[in-house]
Amino acid sequence: MKTDTIAAAATAVPPMGGAGIGVVRISGEDAILVADRVFFEGSGKRLADQESHTAHYGHIRDEEGVIDEVIVLLMRAPRTYTREDTVEIDCHGGAFVMQRILETVIRNGARPAEPGEFTKRAFLNGRIDLSQAESVLDVILAQNEFALKNSVRQLSGSVSSEVRRVRGEILHQIAYIESALDDPEHISLDGYPCRLKEIVSEQVRDIEKLLKNSDDGRILKEGISTVIAGKPNAGKSSLLNWLVGEERAIVTEIPGTTRDVLEEQISLDGIVLRLTDTAGIRSTEDPVEKIGVDRAKKSLTDADLVFYVVDSSTNFDESDAGIIELLSGKKTIIIFNKSDLAARTTPQEVKSLIGKENESCRFVTVSAKEQTGKEELCEAVREMFFAGKIFQNDQVYITNIRHKAALLDTLASLEQVKQSIDGGMPEDFYSIDLMNAYEELGKITGEAVEDDLVNEIFSKFCMGK
Ligand code: GDP
Repeated sequence: MKTDTIAAAATAVPPMGGAGIGVVRISGEDAILVADRVFFEGSGKRLADQESHTAHYGHIRDEEGVIDEVIVLLMRAPRTYTREDTVEIDCHGGAFVMQRILETVIRNGARPAEPGEFTKRAFLNGRIDLSQAESVLDVILAQNEFALKNSVRQLSGSVSSEVRRVRGEILHQIAYIESALDDPEHISLDGYPCRLKEIVSEQVRDIEKLLKNSDDGRILKEGISTVIAGKPNAGKSSLLNWLVGEERAIVTEIPGTTRDVLEEQISLDGIVLRLTDTAGIRSTEDPVEKIGVDRAKKSLTDADLVFYVVDSSTNFDESDAGIIELLSGKKTIIIFNKSDLAARTTPQEVKSLIGKENESCRFVTVSAKEQTGKEELCEAVREMFFAGKIFQNDQVYITNIRHKAALLDTLASLEQVKQSIDGGMPEDFYSIDLMNAYEELGKITGEAVEDDLVNEIFSKFCMGK
């Protein structure tokens, strides 16, 4: 195990100038030694002689003199984030001052940390498991209430404890089969396949439950990608401006998270929508316009949800019907806009026209001008995506695709066990598939993962975490 001493700026400097305070973090066997070389407290006391979990006021200096006035937090292993000796230097939060302090620390015996290396050490030193480490990143990247709450719950081990419970039960069965095969005189397998089938069926149900709401989880975390479509003048921009004006979500520009420049995020009743406007869709021969239309059609295909805006003060025509046809099977909310004007098209009429009143299509009447009808719109979204339910805080939501893939593989192995039992196969067949399920679950918590994967996961982290 590497215990060399690493250092990094743990806080980012905002683009416009600095923040009030910044943190430079040092972790490893020599963390306190390194800190003592750069930190000077008036009376000459040394950090090495101080109690753990104490704060000390003083200055960071190099050969040329004082760099900054700071507070240093001294934390000795194992009660630290990395489980190693850790020193945090609370300095001023400017880019230049933090860089100077970091350089000084590095000249005095630390090396620059790789992205995510502090969290990787927390994982390698057994303080958190892999799914918890991943949730640290999710907390940092969270852009809405659900994403934050769910990541914090995963950080405290909500996914891990469920996975460990099932994994423990599987191990118990493997051990039982193995010992019975080793010692048939004392341990009988009579009637065992029947019992095992019940146990495995129960586990299949548990895992299916986790998987069932994983799509809800993803959508709540990332937001529903929503495309606004409709003919020119239907009121698409007015609708977008109205919703964005009132409900604009807090979106931070974390590199790699901004998907589309034309995208606006809004939060409707806690549900995040990622809204994009499309070029008006109609058939055209103009090559340039055609590219726009093709792109609009593609974004319709990729979207989770379509808001199809209809101008209810004009007649619904064939081109509307044609586009709605194009959206067949796609979750679509047909928004009858301009309800403040005399109606020439009503939802009833359109319903009978397109002969559609199914799960994938809802009708809502609004006026973007007078800003009415938003509650109905929220309600329609909630019904379509979460069967009207409000997400529950105590529920375990799988939001990580890596975890989802491992759960699907676990499920396949457990189904295989059931098949072997039904097919009257010998017991060692069960333990092979149980072992596969056990390994798959271990990938989530990190007890059975390759180094390469661990490295890849941590490389996605930001510096200083
Ligand atoms: P887009 O081409 O679909 O983006 O449509 P716009 O949002 O540009 O709106 C087209 C016209 O309809 C503009 O003159 C808007 O002011 C008007 N408009 C949009 N929504 C409403 C509405 O709810 N009521 C009324 N009366 N006019 C609206």
